[in-house]
Amino acid sequence: MITFKDVQIHFGDFHAIKNLNLNIREGEFFTFLGPSGCGKTTILRSLVGFINPASGQILLNDRDITQVPIEKREISMVFQSYALFPTLNVYENIAFGMRVKKFSKAEVDAQVKEIARKVDLSEEQLVKKVSELSGGQQQRVAIARALVLKPSILALDEPLSNLDAKLRVQLRNELKDLQKKFGITTVYVTHDQEEALTLSDRIAVFNKGIVEQVGTPREIYNESKTEFVCNFIGDINLIQPAIIQNSPLKDFIDPAKKSYIRNEKISLTPIVQGKNAVQLKGEIVDQEFYGIYTKYSVEIAGGGILKTVETEKGHDQYQTGDEIDIYMHAGDILQY
Ligand code: ATP
Repeated sequence: MITFKDVQIHFGDFHAIKNLNLNIREGEFFTFLGPSGCGKTTILRSLVGFINPASGQILLNDRDITQVPIEKREISMVFQSYALFPTLNVYENIAFGMRVKKFSKAEVDAQVKEIARKVDLSEEQLVKKVSELSGGQQQRVAIARALVLKPSILALDEPLSNLDAKLRVQLRNELKDLQKKFGITTVYVTHDQEEALTLSDRIAVFNKGIVEQVGTPREIYNESKTEFVCNFIGDINLIQPAIIQNSPLKDFIDPAKKSYIRNEKISLTPIVQGKNAVQLKGEIVDQEFYGIYTKYSVEIAGGGILKTVETEKGHDQYQTGDEIDIYMHAGDILQY
């Protein structure tokens, strides 16, 4: 449905987006994920029409929209700051775009009320000023305002980042339900890997203006294509040379490459033995208790630290100073 074809974006001498090629499918929840400054907001803004690429094309259903003005693109955007009108009431905020487009009073009223119902804003809330609402309620108003014009694409720029952790998870789930209910193609920008993994059908991981990998959350996590992606997603250990020398790991690791293993792929409890099973001796030097799991730092005999995440029953039974064995499957090692 959306195609970026050889898109380049410059700010003066700074090359913010370098030759982007990407396809987003109809009805998909698609996320741009990456660290601060990697260009994800820039590319979203170019899709909506705030920024013109220096070269390349943006296609919507095979139609070139690169030069089409914002109001003719049928794309609605929700900003990180919500950008609501604080002195207008909720109803007028949602109605704003329809009023600009000169819809009749009756049409505005019917559509505003219908969308408010769908995003769970009550009749009483409609007459409140936006400044009287909580962050979560303002978020709903911003989404209602974006959806009321029935856009074909919803563009969201870090819409949950101003909320506290618990509300963020609650609204994340609501956003997913809403997207399913409307079936609307959604393009979402975040630097939060958990948000990206839980919400998205597919993710594009950005780094310094280029796409490192496009894939489903499982592909991005389990089959990270590049060193950058594997480091950006999840908690991971770099297996230091000291750990590889004089250990069974050297049979499995290419010395010319860097090798990583995810924390949760290392276990303190014995695993099924086989030709790929590796056992190393170590000592627990640090621990963090998270309630549903415990993280341990283990100093390997001979040097080097590996971190584990223990989720098994009794995961908090180990103490700092305990001498233990750690277990892993060589097949879980990622090499770049
Ligand atoms: P964040 O998560 O911090 O918002 P981001 O990945 O969305 O980061 P962008 O806002 O897309 O990053 O910015 C990408 C790069 O382009 C940054 O280095 C930024 O400083 C630069 N940039 C963005 N907008 C402009 C602008 N209008 N003029 C000059 N440089 C800009």
